[in-house]
Amino acid sequence: MRERDTAGTGMTSQRTQDRLVDALARQGVGDERVLSALRAVPRHLFVDEALESRAYENTPLPIGEGQTISQPWVVARMTELLLEAGDLRRVLEVGTGSGYQVAVLARLVPQVYTVERLGSLLRKARERLRQAQATNVQTRHGDGFEGWPEYAPYDGILVTAAPETLPTALLEQLGDGGRLVAPLGGAGYQELTVVDREGEHLRRRRVAGVSFVPMRQGRA
Ligand code: SAH
Repeated sequence: MRERDTAGTGMTSQRTQDRLVDALARQGVGDERVLSALRAVPRHLFVDEALESRAYENTPLPIGEGQTISQPWVVARMTELLLEAGDLRRVLEVGTGSGYQVAVLARLVPQVYTVERLGSLLRKARERLRQAQATNVQTRHGDGFEGWPEYAPYDGILVTAAPETLPTALLEQLGDGGRLVAPLGGAGYQELTVVDREGEHLRRRRVAGVSFVPMRQGRA
């Protein structure tokens, strides 16, 4: 993969990027920390060059293997929901995909861990995270249904592929006072769900309708 222009020009310029972030703010993303992280991470670095000029549209885009980089509004909303939980030191993301969501998280949380089941996507994501200088991210080629027990408990867990129901291992790896944000449901349509852990008690609420690729078992 050749070294990409981090700064960008024209359709990938900072101005184009700022315009997208302003639009997200108008659509109700209120957390300034999230908005500045979105201004700082060049989304065009996380898509193939052929799609670069569309990187600052508020839309998901294909990243290969039938997977997609999430829509910026969804990334912003999920990040904002996670940060509401309070002081986050350690966060786990399930579904690295392009690496974009985790690069955003890396600007807001000291230690970020991410798990991806597809080796080919993970290889590209690692390279992109290096280019974006996200040095506080650790990646793992594994099945997100198992979480990443070695670094648990997490203050926050963000799931970016849709399971039908809440994966038990992820709930077990969520620390006391921690929050998990995940799309729950079948193919095509899911409920973005927030789960808060207070001791042994789990409180759960639905916040929006979303559409993610399904979470699948096993590594490939
Ligand atoms: N967060 C990503 C979104 C990627 S789409 C981004 O910002 O680009 C969802 C990703 O979840 C896909 O790459 C898919 O391969 C991955 N995925 C699906 N099931 C998984 C599982 N069980 N464990 C880990 N990753 C999974």
